[in-house]
Amino acid sequence: MNKKELDIRGWAYHARRVFWPVCAVMASQISKSMKRLFPSKGSIEREGLRLLLIGRHRAHTAQAAAPRHLKLGISIAAALAVTLCILTVTLTGSQVMAVTVNGQMVGYVNDEAEYTNLMQSAKAKISKENGNTELVIKENKIALAPTFVPGDEKKVAEKAVSEDKLVDTLISQNAVETNVYTLNVAGKEVGKFGSLTEVTDTLNSVKQEVSGDQNSQSDNKGAFQEDIAIQSQTEALGQADNLSDPQAVKDTLLAGGDQSAPLVHYETTGVETTTEPVDFKTTEQKDPDMAWGDRETAQAGVPGERTVTRNVTRVNGEVTAQEEISSEVTKEPVDEIVKVGTKLSQLGDTGDGKLGKPLASWTFSRGVSPSHTGDDLCAPEGSPIYAAEAGTVIFTGQFGGYGNLVKIDHGNGLQTWYGHCEGFNCAAGDTVARGQQIATVGDTGHATCFHLHFEVRVNGAVVEPMDYLQ
Ligand SMILES: [Zn+2]
Repeated sequence: MNKKELDIRGWAYHARRVFWPVCAVMASQISKSMKRLFPSKGSIEREGLRLLLIGRHRAHTAQAAAPRHLKLGISIAAALAVTLCILTVTLTGSQVMAVTVNGQMVGYVNDEAEYTNLMQSAKAKISKENGNTELVIKENKIALAPTFVPGDEKKVAEKAVSEDKLVDTLISQNAVETNVYTLNVAGKEVGKFGSLTEVTDTLNSVKQEVSGDQNSQSDNKGAFQEDIAIQSQTEALGQADNLSDPQAVKDTLLAGGDQSAPLVHYETTGVETTTEPVDFKTTEQKDPDMAWGDRETAQAGVPGERTVTRNVTRVNGEVTAQEEISSEVTKEPVDEIVKVGTKLSQLGDTGDGKLGKPLASWTFSRGVSPSHTGDDLCAPEGSPIYAAEAGTVIFTGQFGGYGNLVKIDHGNGLQTWYGHCEGFNCAAGDTVARGQQIATVGDTGHATCFHLHFEVRVNGAVVEPMDYLQ
């Protein structure tokens, strides 16, 4: 036996001295654990010890027959095999996660994914039962601890977390609250909502309702003129009854609730393009074939169209300011043409709408003024006075300041009056022709010299006779 062999032998001896007692202690400890975990399974302990003893016996047998260094290897391998067997038997059971809420055990879940799914469905259920409010889970009250549950899987199944158990525990342990959103307008609370979406939806529907025709507001940018604030806070469950009806809040914002004015004023500015009518012009055409004063539409007017683009500011839909940017006539208007009759009579009418001369010649003295209703035409006493147009004599006789007066009606609202006459050559009811003598020049009534006071009346109104004379 050389020194090397002696060393190996010595080392192996010491290894055996240490190894087997360690194995024995381990086996003893494992057996104690198993007794604690599986009180009914004493056989497992015995099986472990039996395997240990068999392993030791076989190791000794192999050690005796084999070379010394091989014997050492066999000893170690056998010991490891035995230890592994014991551990395998001991570790039968399930690795799960224990869920506790506020320290109260809810049960086991297999993994975090199962926990997440359960929590989601529990939240959905609680939310549904509380007016679909947004829930806040107090995560700090919930613990999820990895746990080894020995035994077969039945042990885990019996204590698996159920949705109902989780819901009940979350509620009973006050581990769930609701989010509540308060809508404030100009510092005044106008509504309480269960979700932020409900608040923004309500505000958006107000905007839509007051911002007018959306189609023409391509560049619509708006803002509320009042301070709008949304505050969120958490509240205990069971507050659903205190939440506002979004439609009622919208009505309040627009109609002001008890007040008559809206609570919000939404201002928009944008480019608006509209199509607007373009007025047509009316022109008159004299028609000598139509009776004097008759009117007839020869061509109906048709409004045109133009496209106008403006910068428009609206508050709650009402235009408060606008500025025209551009305008384009897309359809020209069609003028209306009205024919106006100028024919005065069948006899002697030249067709130009003019009256005949009431005297062969005269000297003009005085025209129409606010205090004078006709033209004074001076002529020698007894000069013949002629009908300026065909018509019917409707008056002859004294007529106040006119003295002897002749009135002729020409139809179509046209009359001529002849004052201060010396004598008459016609009588009321006579039909006279244009140019027919009806009287003679005198100075009856308020007259300071011999003259004809000649009046033209259109529909009862005095006009300037010279505008109607040839
Ligand atoms: Zn006069």
